[in-house]
Amino acid sequence: MTAKKFVYLFNEVQEAEKYAGSWDGVRGLLGGKGANLADMTRIGVPVPPFFTVTTEACNAFLEAGNKFPDGMWDQMMEGLKEVEKASGKKFGDPKNPLLVSCRSGAKMSMPGMMDTVLNIGLNDETARGMVELTKNDRFVYDAYRRLIGMFGSVVLEIDDEAFEEVLDSVKKAKGVTADTDLKAEDLKELVEKLKAVIKREKGFDFPQEPLEQMRLATEAVFKSWNGKRAVDYRNAAGIAHDLGTAVNIVTMVFGNLGWNSGTGVAFTRDPSTGEKVMYGDYLLNAQGEDVVAGIRNTEKIQNLTKELPQAYKEFLEITDRLELHYRDMQDVEFTIENGKLWMLQTRAGKRTAKAAVKMAVDMVNESLITREEAILRVTPDQVDTLLHPQFDEKEKEQAAKAGRQFGKGVNASPGAAVGQVYFDADTAEKRAKADKQDVIMVRPFTKPDDVHGMLAARGILTSEGGATSHAAVVARQFGVPCVVGASEIRIDQERRQMEANGIVVKEGDWISVDGTTGQVFLGNIPTISPKLEEQTDLLTLLSWADEICATPNIRQAPAGWPTKGLQVWANADYPADARRARSYGAVGIGLCRTEHMFFEQVRLPIVQRMILAETSAERTAALNELLPHQRKDFEGLFEAMDGYPVIIRLIDPPLHEFMPDEEALFEEVITMRVKGESAGLAEKENLLANIRQMHESNPMMGLRGVRLSIYMPEIVEMQVRAIFEAAANQANKGVEVKPEVMIPLTGTVKELDWIQPRLQVIAKTVMQEKGVTFEYKFGTMIEIPRACVTANEIAKVAEFFSFGTNDLTQMTFGYSRDDAERNFLVKYVEEGILPTNPFQTLDREGVGRMMDIAVKDGRQARIDLEVGICGEHGGDPASIEFCHLVGNNYVSCSPFRVPIARLAAAHSALKYRPGGVDILEDK
Ligand code: ADP
Ligand code: MG
Ligand code: MG
Repeated sequence: MTAKKFVYLFNEVQEAEKYAGSWDGVRGLLGGKGANLADMTRIGVPVPPFFTVTTEACNAFLEAGNKFPDGMWDQMMEGLKEVEKASGKKFGDPKNPLLVSCRSGAKMSMPGMMDTVLNIGLNDETARGMVELTKNDRFVYDAYRRLIGMFGSVVLEIDDEAFEEVLDSVKKAKGVTADTDLKAEDLKELVEKLKAVIKREKGFDFPQEPLEQMRLATEAVFKSWNGKRAVDYRNAAGIAHDLGTAVNIVTMVFGNLGWNSGTGVAFTRDPSTGEKVMYGDYLLNAQGEDVVAGIRNTEKIQNLTKELPQAYKEFLEITDRLELHYRDMQDVEFTIENGKLWMLQTRAGKRTAKAAVKMAVDMVNESLITREEAILRVTPDQVDTLLHPQFDEKEKEQAAKAGRQFGKGVNASPGAAVGQVYFDADTAEKRAKADKQDVIMVRPFTKPDDVHGMLAARGILTSEGGATSHAAVVARQFGVPCVVGASEIRIDQERRQMEANGIVVKEGDWISVDGTTGQVFLGNIPTISPKLEEQTDLLTLLSWADEICATPNIRQAPAGWPTKGLQVWANADYPADARRARSYGAVGIGLCRTEHMFFEQVRLPIVQRMILAETSAERTAALNELLPHQRKDFEGLFEAMDGYPVIIRLIDPPLHEFMPDEEALFEEVITMRVKGESAGLAEKENLLANIRQMHESNPMMGLRGVRLSIYMPEIVEMQVRAIFEAAANQANKGVEVKPEVMIPLTGTVKELDWIQPRLQVIAKTVMQEKGVTFEYKFGTMIEIPRACVTANEIAKVAEFFSFGTNDLTQMTFGYSRDDAERNFLVKYVEEGILPTNPFQTLDREGVGRMMDIAVKDGRQARIDLEVGICGEHGGDPASIEFCHLVGNNYVSCSPFRVPIARLAAAHSALKYRPGGVDILEDK
């Protein structure tokens, strides 16, 4: 029986592809690091010989209770032979020793797993052999002491500090401060002392046998897949737990052989601005981790052209090739050994939102990627980031250089927050509200009774908890920037201060919290508020997104009705909002709430008079006074939306919302009575009696929406007249108007049967009076479950549907939003009863199913039924995707979210375009 193939050699990437079926499969099998090392080898990039032990071996090892699967070790030995052949050295041979590194590497790059161990294969004997060979005993014993330190802490899990203490004591005894000042003799002495630490802590000697070193290191990498930090990270990032990690055994190349050698890391473009310039650091005469560890001051990568011109030239050629090959910006690690360049890693580089947009657009212009790919390279969240105030990257870098980074945690809720630190909710709220301070609330973790402080704060910082902790959930829900689990911070509630890395922050001190990256800084870091019109790359990308959405949505097209991708409309009540919406790219208004117009100071008394009218004539008189105001509002709206549809919703809230507060009025009446004031008392008493009569036990489910229109039709008759007079006036001025009248809260088609024809008569009458005709629609909001399940009837009367998903969510779940968010939703999300807040991200199974029924049945009755959404979900990317799947024509959201929605709509269209995602899949 032949055992399964658990080991792939540097030149076996084809075999891996055949077995795994796709490049994604190879990445799964060999891990991202291993797959790309093999891929680089295939295209002729110099990579030191290596082999990879598969993730399948890792999973088998873990399943068997930490036992290598049958055949795996033998295959490693065979692989080692091939690596020896290719490198011309022999593992464990004192005359010509091969040294290797043992590197973990999962499919996704993942902090929290085992660190790399360098220089495996060194022992007392091979060390002596290498000294003979290199004539450089300082180099050899430096490598050896590093191996023992790394092996001890990483593989044998001895506390780092035990090794650092020894290093410090040796340095002190020799009177030096830098590691590099230690002489060969000192390092030899250090080696012995480090060995003694292992003996003391573990009771056994540092393994001298090279194969034993390799075996233990491999086991440790496998085990680290289930280490606590790795598991926590996967939970937070939503990475599957059954992927496993691969192990890469890579021939060591040495950047610390002298001034003709070096090591470095680089990005092929600037990861913070996106500019096409090589961005990186290197150190001559240094090994692997030195660059990242920051022990010595690194050089800018461009300087390498002076120091090792030949190697740098080759480096530029190779990185150019890698960009072309992977068609993306690369993050590479390299080492130069005696002038010879070796590549040790390449992967798609992480980037800021700004850089992501610039690179995507640049790469299209360079013909490196397609427009579709460019769109998929940027996430809606990144667009969101670009439109919010954010920290000035340069200032942040400077702060970090100046040692002002105080801590780092999980980036739980994006955005930049600057403020003064307070350690309890009451004080935080008081300082924010009474003293108008910018507050950052800091707690070890938060509880439901901290919420008032969190809402008053500009930002939230906790030292415990992860991405689904109470603090994180609340912060995201309310859009407060938040960093959680900054575990190096110690909070001292008693002394009202916190401490990290030896720095103390007291109550009232200023800090800056970056919820986008998880960083926390001392002091006040300046923020910048970006303007959309200045972001030309983003505008270009969004225009490409709109092109995608203008193509047919084949998936959802019922026979005879080819819908397109989603359009993005905006919710706007005032002309100024409409103009902003247009400048952000909205191509319609999905919701104009008319009641806002009633609340304005001059109008409210007229509205109240209208409500309290005892006769129809009195009411009509008041309404006639309101009419010109409403008409003027609508005229502005139509003008701003020249050529685009405008959906105006007829009055929706219960009438008591327009009346004075009952309790305050009651107090007034009592006071007047007590003081014996009679002037005006009778009117006030009458008003109070009226308000009391209007009292409902559950107003949100009472006399409102279409019910109110049927009960008191004069109001909506006036509104419809105002809408059509405004539209006609603008049409006569040459504006292209497309009014759509929306009736809220329909539950049965009979309601529409009753009200809609009366309103349609008014529309026709006005057009006749004004001698003009234009397109218009009458339709309804769909926000009651009964409307969804009787959509086939409703669509016979309504010409469009607009999902009011706030109410639809409340009524489908039977939750009142305010009560739910205040009381139990956070607990529900924490306990996993709900995956997220359904008022933020549409609940596909329940509310979504209601929508699906409504769209399908509605279009049965009316094939060209226009369908949209105007609830807050219309600006949420995951909900937008669902709207695409359901076959909406548009989503409507707040003007500020329009750019985010445009990109999300294009993502949905691409993702679900037949064949769309597969042909675009990334290497
Ligand atoms: P990480 O995932 O933390 O980046 P790596 O496995 O890439 O870990 O290794 C960490 C450091 O060690 C990197 O700087 C890398 O270049 C260096 N390194 C790893 N393997 C070798 C090797 N065979 N020869 C020289 N340096 C190496
Ligand atoms: Mg690592
Ligand atoms: Mg690396």
